[in-house]
Amino acid sequence: MEVGKVWMDGELKDAADATTPVLTHALHYGSGAFEGIRSYRTDRGGAIFRLGDHLDRLYRSAAVIGLSIPWERDELAEACRSTLRANGLTSAYLRPIAFYGYDTLGVPPRKCPPVTAIAAWEWGSYVAAASPRIKTSRFVRFHPGSLVPEAKICGHYVNSLLAVREAHAAGFHEALLLDHHGNVAECSGENVFAVKADRIVTPPLGNILPGITRATVIELARDLGFQVEERTLSRDELAAADEAFMTGTAAEVTPIAELDDVRLTEGAGPVTRRLAEAYRGVVRGEDPRYERYLTRL
Ligand code: PMP
Repeated sequence: MEVGKVWMDGELKDAADATTPVLTHALHYGSGAFEGIRSYRTDRGGAIFRLGDHLDRLYRSAAVIGLSIPWERDELAEACRSTLRANGLTSAYLRPIAFYGYDTLGVPPRKCPPVTAIAAWEWGSYVAAASPRIKTSRFVRFHPGSLVPEAKICGHYVNSLLAVREAHAAGFHEALLLDHHGNVAECSGENVFAVKADRIVTPPLGNILPGITRATVIELARDLGFQVEERTLSRDELAAADEAFMTGTAAEVTPIAELDDVRLTEGAGPVTRRLAEAYRGVVRGEDPRYERYLTRL
């Protein structure tokens, strides 16, 4: 991964100079919040997809750990655009992060100053296969009474890391995490959908990250006339689905080929293909009905 300039607390710096002390609070306790955002090439230049929604989630996630980001939403939006421009990027992945920096190392962050940074780089397809094989993890998605599933907090990702490492070690591409009731929660970095006879089912909010791609795909599917149900989805129901797919900013709409040893689809099924194409059109500015989701560079 090559990164040129990084925006850090108001300045564009060479990536090698965008550093933080080893005693940074967030490094020890996961006390940061971050986002993953994509920009796309459209026929009217570059555009960032749902930038405002991603920044809103960043502020909400930071607030969960009491971290107050000392930049206004408009300033961070402009910083995202200037990071892309400084790196000569149009089609890219953006990673804003805000975290508690260095002061003391007690668990309560007290006077640890907030640090805000934005990096951007070219990132092709995120999942290691066009149609990944996924493994049900022995690691349960963290309990909503222990952490805050709606928030994209750095420390939360140890749960994902354990699950995806386990899946990779067993020869799979991605992990499926169940919730504490044993129902489908989500993958390590994507939300999950099942398709059965033209009905699309996805787990409700509560144990999952409220994915911005998930929300977009639900909206697109309904606009295309599909019935979408946000309800409890068992692993067995997912395994018996006609089609299954995952959604995420990095992964976009990716068909799931296999769940454990059950073959789901050969490539993308018809519903997945339709939604993936619709999503591709929206993010690339080919569908004027969704122009409101694009921030032009
Ligand atoms: N779940 C998890 C755990 C994630 O890390 C992500 C990626 N941000 C998603 C779901 C998908 O969210 P989004 O569509 O907003 O990228």
